[in-house]
Amino acid sequence: MRAVKIKKENLFDFLEAIKPFGDLWGPVKSGDGYVLEKVTDYSNIEMSALRTRIPFKKLLFPPKFTMFKFDEKGIRSSDEELPRQVIFGLHPCDLHALLIMDNFHSLHYVDPYYRERRERTAVIGLSCFPDDRCFCKATNTHYTEKGFDLFLTDLGDFYILWIGSSLGDDMVRECPELVDEEVTHDDLEKYIAWRKKRESNFKLKLDFTGMPSIMELSYDSPLWDELGEKCLSCGACTIVCPTCPCFNVIDEVDIGGGTGERTRRWDSCMFREYSMVAGGHNFREARSERLKLRFTHKLQAFVGAFGEAACVGCGRCIGACPVDIDIQTVAQNLKGEEVKA
Ligand code: SF4
Ligand code: SF4
Repeated sequence: MRAVKIKKENLFDFLEAIKPFGDLWGPVKSGDGYVLEKVTDYSNIEMSALRTRIPFKKLLFPPKFTMFKFDEKGIRSSDEELPRQVIFGLHPCDLHALLIMDNFHSLHYVDPYYRERRERTAVIGLSCFPDDRCFCKATNTHYTEKGFDLFLTDLGDFYILWIGSSLGDDMVRECPELVDEEVTHDDLEKYIAWRKKRESNFKLKLDFTGMPSIMELSYDSPLWDELGEKCLSCGACTIVCPTCPCFNVIDEVDIGGGTGERTRRWDSCMFREYSMVAGGHNFREARSERLKLRFTHKLQAFVGAFGEAACVGCGRCIGACPVDIDIQTVAQNLKGEEVKA
């Protein structure tokens, strides 16, 4: 990793210069929140946006896409041509989520559909200041030195521009006149002061120490039944979560025409049909069972399979659940702490 500087007034010119690297996606205002959208007018990018409603995952495995088509002669790949894309504005929590997704889709089994999109994607991270829903400090995902091609740390009238990959280096080489190679001792002091200020801004203090063991011991906790009474099975918590990758595969056949296509669509472990198998048996008929699956998977099973929990403290589920069931309230409940929600 290498650091240079870029003046804020040069950012739009920089984004213009890296156009050949792909369509630019960034956070833009939508109602009272933010969405990740394709951007052509750079002034629409919300530099202070903390979390987009739906995270970056929609660009790496869209909510619905065609895997392949088939007819009586066999199967052929989808006609869709995948564009190159640059995702701008991912904060450290989402960059950790991206690394989790990369691992999930490649460590034990390589998902070619994910890999194809991922290889066409460049990532530009952006520093942030936490609000009252951020708990990335508790999940140790509030900083990152990897997962990005470029990363911007906002230090007032300029950014430190961290170069995290050879692709990022190529982007900077497109416009060397826009960056300043000289990072001074003054800049270092500003950076350290910025870190201290940011650290002190974390208000939501959670302790995730030992959660896998607590989850193991909580398998028969009455909490699951209590939460199951409230849960609406709406799936909002999984849809907004940047580390939830579940999907369903559906064949759509034109009966009589001899053609069809296989599609992949987002699914949610909170939906009743998720665990239903042929013959109508459902392994997780009760909402309490589905809740237990979701949280056990995130805070325990994922640690065993991938070495870390599948929660990066982004706070999206805290805002999304209409009945206040989220990773914060569940973890506090299981640890016998006062629940503030
Ligand atoms: S569980 Fe909630 S806080 Fe954790 S990564 Fe998912 S949406 Fe973010
Ligand atoms: S968002 Fe809340 S109510 Fe909806 S499925 Fe998730 S836990 Fe249940």
